[in-house]
Amino acid sequence: MRGLTKRYGGLVAVKGVDLDLRPGEILGLIGPNGSGKSTVMKLVMGLEKPSAGSIRLDGTEIAGWPSHRVARAGIGLVFQHARPLMRQTVLENISLALLPDSLLRLAADPAVGERAKAIAERVGLGAVIDRRPGTLPFADLRRLELARAIARDPRVVLVDEPFAGLTGPEVAAFSELIRGFRDEGKAVLLVDHNVKSVAALVDRVFALYLGERIAEGSAEAVMADPTVRRVYLGGSIET
Ligand code: ATP
Ligand code: MG
Repeated sequence: MRGLTKRYGGLVAVKGVDLDLRPGEILGLIGPNGSGKSTVMKLVMGLEKPSAGSIRLDGTEIAGWPSHRVARAGIGLVFQHARPLMRQTVLENISLALLPDSLLRLAADPAVGERAKAIAERVGLGAVIDRRPGTLPFADLRRLELARAIARDPRVVLVDEPFAGLTGPEVAAFSELIRGFRDEGKAVLLVDHNVKSVAALVDRVFALYLGERIAEGSAEAVMADPTVRRVYLGGSIET
């Protein structure tokens, strides 16, 4: 991203952000409420159009592309708030993420079901593939959201606050899954409020405040950064 900017009327939600995300790394995008973290992700995923600036994937300009085209190019987003199809089963939800354009092909192709089953197992949903989302506990809904985002094996995974509302063991399980993405060479952009809670997981941290970068580097360096300590003090973030 270069000079990435998003205005909502008079509010500048993202201000001239320069951010590099590399294959095989987890970059923590950190900032208090309203600092622009989700907006950055929506801009990359094509769910919002930038007011200015550029987003390149392997040199190809993708800023302003519609989200289905961004997804096909190899980017997947795990939303902050899960929104599965409530009338479909877990397996159907994952299958539809695999082949979003074609319900007919889906019904006709047993390989899709097999692939969806493998993804369900990978994220820990193997035992609940025939259930509907309404009957699942919160952590399983987050797993389903993750499954849908990685269904088409994206090279870039954007994960928006994956740990919110999870217990300690669930956070550990999710961290392990995210490490797995990194270790197979995906580029992972991970959003959280808190530097400390992701310090063990991320390779680097990019700190946002009111839409702007205020620090970037190792988790330790960002936690010790005087600007970070000053602006986050009394906010919703803890270093
Ligand atoms: P949180 O930690 O609460 O998820 P965030 O860092 O993800 O916050 P964003 O959701 O990106 O922050 O919001 C950044 C700013 O842009 C906020 O001031 C928010 O109110 C504003 N904003 C976001 N989306 C819109 C929109 N669709 N219309 C107007 N303002 C918006
Ligand atoms: Mg957000």
